[in-house]
Amino acid sequence: MTVSPSKSADPGSQPMIAMRGVQKHFGSLHVLKDIDLEVPAGQVVVVLGPSGSGKSTLCRTINRLEPIDEGEIRVEGQLLPAEGKDLARLRADVGMVFQSFNLFSHKTILENVTLAPTKVRKKSKADAGKRALELLERVGIASQKDKYPAQLSGGQQQRVAIARSLAMDPKVMLFDEPTSALDPEMVNEVLDVMVALAKEGMTMLVVTHEMGFARKAADRVIFMADGAIIEDAEPDTFFTDPKTDRARDFLGKIL
Ligand code: ADP
Ligand code: MG
Repeated sequence: MTVSPSKSADPGSQPMIAMRGVQKHFGSLHVLKDIDLEVPAGQVVVVLGPSGSGKSTLCRTINRLEPIDEGEIRVEGQLLPAEGKDLARLRADVGMVFQSFNLFSHKTILENVTLAPTKVRKKSKADAGKRALELLERVGIASQKDKYPAQLSGGQQQRVAIARSLAMDPKVMLFDEPTSALDPEMVNEVLDVMVALAKEGMTMLVVTHEMGFARKAADRVIFMADGAIIEDAEPDTFFTDPKTDRARDFLGKIL
């Protein structure tokens, strides 16, 4: 089966994500400094940078978990709505997977995946259930569908979290260090799902320090430091010939 990313075939169409002049402060701390970023449909962008450089905040502004102070953010040409029904729709279009899996602990795996499609997308229980099973199959968890999150390993829970996001038929998937809370032996089972998604054409913005994923799946690497994007390059170029001392330092520590 495919995950049917809503990928526009029209080459003249809008970028999937467009951030222009985005500024964000937390009190006196300037966490996003004049961010300009365009991500075309189908592109896979890996976001790198030291801790505290603003990677999570960048992701969170894109689906409006964090408001911005200045600038604009568009998803497929649409300005981000401030609140209300349009915001719910935007959130459904932009899937997000966090470091902590955030599954509903009192719901079964299947219920975790069908909940939002029935409530937000107004799908029938039958349709949502059918789709959920396909997606659980896709991430290799279908046989666990009647269990509760606590009965699954971290890697399995994160794969359910990915299926849950996909169940909303998002246009974009944001991943914020999706494997950094996992035991090492579970990292690859999650990365494999993400690589497959990337190959199917999903537009993805992925904060990760997993260089294997970056090399396998990324079309582009952006490197952040102190709230600014200071490098934006193809993975090969970035890894072999970083332009800034900050990036060279960073790569020296993680490679
Ligand atoms: P990264 O994900 O790259 O580690 P973050 O986006 O989480 O960076 O954080 C960027 C900066 O903003 C850090 O200095 C962090 O301490 C600060 N920060 C993040 N969230 C908040 C918040 N809700 N309130 C105040 N400061 C925050
Ligand atoms: Mg972070």
